Amino acid sequence: MLNQQDRQTVRTALDKRKSTLLAEIRTALADSGDTQFREVLGGSPGDSSDEALAASLADLSAARIDREVREYRALEAAEQRLGDAGFGTCADCAVAIPLARLVANPAATRCVQCQEKFDKTHAGQAHGSL
Ligand SMILES: [Zn+2]
Repeated sequence: MLNQQDRQTVRTALDKRKSTLLAEIRTALADSGDTQFREVLGGSPGDSSDEALAASLADLSAARIDREVREYRALEAAEQRLGDAGFGTCADCAVAIPLARLVANPAATRCVQCQEKFDKTHAGQAHGSL
């Protein structure tokens, strides 16, 4: 079970990953030439346009940013779960996920063993190891 300090550590890592991801999505969108999203992206860096952008992401389907958007959503879901008592426990075997793994991948919902098993079972589907 994660204590308050552990949760804060994960939250910090999660925020950082989200910022990185948003920057990547921004770049991809800027390159896509979609003027609708250029407007969204027009604000100065770090201002509250992040939320407007996040809302817009729901409708995006461009393959190029699909992966980033999916990870971003996974991070948002993780953020929602962060306050739950069960956060940080494996969804499959209920073992505590090591803090280092959560920091490296805040959206992780399984321990390494179960994730490997899951990836094997779902081999051929979307690549990546959340
Ligand atoms: Zn597990």
